Amino acid sequence: MISVSEALAMVLDLSRPLPTEIVPLAQAAGRVMAVPARARRDQPPFDASAMDGYAVQGDVIGRTLRLTGESRAGQGFDGIVGVGEAVRISTGAPVPAGADRVVIQENTMRDGDRITVTLPSSGFNIRKRGQDFAAGQTFASRRLKPADLGLLAAMDVGQVEVFRRPVVAILSTGDELALPGTPMRDDQIPSSNAFMLKALVEEAGGRGRILPIAKDDIDSLRATFALAEGADLIVTIGGASVGDHDLVGTVAQELGMALSFHKIAMRPGKPLMAGRLGDMPMLGLPGNPVSSYVCAHLFLLPMLRAMTGQKGEPLSLQARLAASVPANGPRTHYMRAFVGPDGITPFAEQDSALLMRLTEANALLIRPDGDPARDAGDIVHYLPI
Ligand code: AMP
Ligand code: MG
Repeated sequence: MISVSEALAMVLDLSRPLPTEIVPLAQAAGRVMAVPARARRDQPPFDASAMDGYAVQGDVIGRTLRLTGESRAGQGFDGIVGVGEAVRISTGAPVPAGADRVVIQENTMRDGDRITVTLPSSGFNIRKRGQDFAAGQTFASRRLKPADLGLLAAMDVGQVEVFRRPVVAILSTGDELALPGTPMRDDQIPSSNAFMLKALVEEAGGRGRILPIAKDDIDSLRATFALAEGADLIVTIGGASVGDHDLVGTVAQELGMALSFHKIAMRPGKPLMAGRLGDMPMLGLPGNPVSSYVCAHLFLLPMLRAMTGQKGEPLSLQARLAASVPANGPRTHYMRAFVGPDGITPFAEQDSALLMRLTEANALLIRPDGDPARDAGDIVHYLPI
């Protein structure tokens, strides 16, 4: 069986960056830039006032000045501020020629067009032209957060070139499965995995396409595989183990899949499978809900990142163990756990079918294969989920 890191390298190798497209800024949230943007103007585009007050020349504390005009945001003052003069100015308005500072309104007294500066203002209250960024400055590609969109808009960039959103076909397999909320026999269960995987894919910036549930027979699987056409990646769920009804590998290979690996030294998720069906990478997830979720975090999300030009490897964090843990066996164990102010606590129950526990977890505690027993207080690695 191959290790998690070997499997990760193989699935990343299956995942090529997708073509790019141009989208307007209003539709760019969560998308991944393929080409850096370049600022089309300075920000601020002129020396701008940081406060409401008066633009003046030199040190004017204790002096009375003559009001000669106004500079507003969107409508500057054309004249020059001379010695002994003041121009009313609002936040964001251009600082008129001649002025070298803004005294804040709270530190003045006004009597008609006479302005007396009563108290010193701290600093000059001017935002220098280009202080935020200069025209021509670039903004590196990444998954766009709300603040990034504000920056791009301020750069006067109206549209961005982004990677196409990866479309992921999600194929559940099993005679026991029925759609939640539909009539089902007593020996059936609702198909749950497809819904969490679709949500995970969409949270990562992709599009999930849930295919009809395939029966555990060759014809049904073949027909459902065909419905994945046009997707960028196919994810199968279940049917990948060694049981008599585990036919996913058989059908995929009959359809020409080039297998990268089948089975991996991890817990949960041993029966993981990956390969390439024509141009389309395929990831065969185990059926147990927790296994499929953990494997999706470890392999599907990295694949989606690689398809959108990002670094694939999941980023692990560190925490202190809040309780001792026994020695780990020969497979890397991803234990459902909770990270809080006291450190990380793995749950006592680690059965890979327990969804209620999964919803309570915010971390996967990583136990490397052969890791010895650890005490409370030891530093360990985990993946946030
Ligand atoms: P399998 O690998 O097909 O043997 O599935 C392993 C376990 O996962 C079985 O108990 C299945 O019923 C369950 N399972 C498989 N697919 C799903 C699914 N889409 N939703 C919920 N449970 C599933
Ligand atoms: Mg099955």
